[in-house]
Amino acid sequence: MRQVVIVGSGCAGNTAAIYTARANLKPLVVEGHEPGGQLSITTLVENFPGFPEGIEGPALVENMKQQAQHFGAEYQRGSVVEADLSKRPFRIDIEGEWVETRTLIIASGASARWLGLPSERKLIGHGVSSCATCDGFFFRGKKIMVIGGGDSAMEEAIFLTRFGEEVAIVHRRDQFRASKIMLDRARQNPKIQWIASAVVDQVFDVEQGLVTGVELRDVKTGKTWQRPVDGLFLALGHIPNTAAFRGQIELDADGYIVSKGGACTSVEGVFHAGDVEDRTYRQAITASAAGCRAAIEAERFLEAQGQ
Ligand code: NDP
Repeated sequence: MRQVVIVGSGCAGNTAAIYTARANLKPLVVEGHEPGGQLSITTLVENFPGFPEGIEGPALVENMKQQAQHFGAEYQRGSVVEADLSKRPFRIDIEGEWVETRTLIIASGASARWLGLPSERKLIGHGVSSCATCDGFFFRGKKIMVIGGGDSAMEEAIFLTRFGEEVAIVHRRDQFRASKIMLDRARQNPKIQWIASAVVDQVFDVEQGLVTGVELRDVKTGKTWQRPVDGLFLALGHIPNTAAFRGQIELDADGYIVSKGGACTSVEGVFHAGDVEDRTYRQAITASAAGCRAAIEAERFLEAQGQ
């Protein structure tokens, strides 16, 4: 029987692990299939306080993990595939192994949606990014491309005009799902160029190990052409990793956990932390802060139960 199980090993999960381990609760962290979460696929992180020179994303999460282990947190590979949160202790299925726990912190994150091109995958962190706030700064005076037609694409494109010499928005349709106000704001920005009804079929240059351009295809005519690009930002939306908890706790229409105030979910004793609930900020530091909050609430919950 565990006091605390933490699902996810990104910034939120690791921070929750540090706090609950230091509270002597011996947390079990279920790492998931992408240990370290989204930071594990980034390069330099320059906006996490405390690192004046910046720190590589994978090193930052690895440091957090070691810090948690130092205080007694245990890490287990694998993902939670099913959960029974209908009564306490809760039961979770870690790929065939059922574990019982008095509290659960869900910090399983949200995965950015990608195009799914092999060239795109290989260049993530080397010019391909899913976070303008994180990586825009690296593209000062460069050619930037944003893919997507939603509010995120508009917001990121507008933000990126602060850095890039040009920002091109590529969208697969000629209708945009972005709200009118965001679309108008982007349309009024003279630095933004528009490429509608087009898709990216290839990202160059895998051999050089950095983004130098893309191949585009007009979806109406089939015509293809190449365009030089230094930074490619995907704004295709996110998918929260909550499939294992569907039907057990309240999720919104997109699958994000509905917060019941603080770190609470609709089930007493189950807490949320990070991008699995937060669709607004999605930063390492906000995820860490949420992990801290969830840990403190889990600790207080256990104390109130006399555990
Ligand atoms: P959305 O799901 O709204 O938009 C995703 C965009 O990516 C769509 O235009 C979609 O195209 C496109 N897309 C998805 N998959 C592919 C693909 N494989 N190839 C090419 N294009 C693809 O996600 P957002 O992150 O933009 O927004 C999520 C939510 O957050 C929304 O509710 C939004 O309003 C909100 N939000 C609000 C903001 C604000 O108000 N300031 C800022 C950011 C987000 P298609 O349209 O053809 O499906």
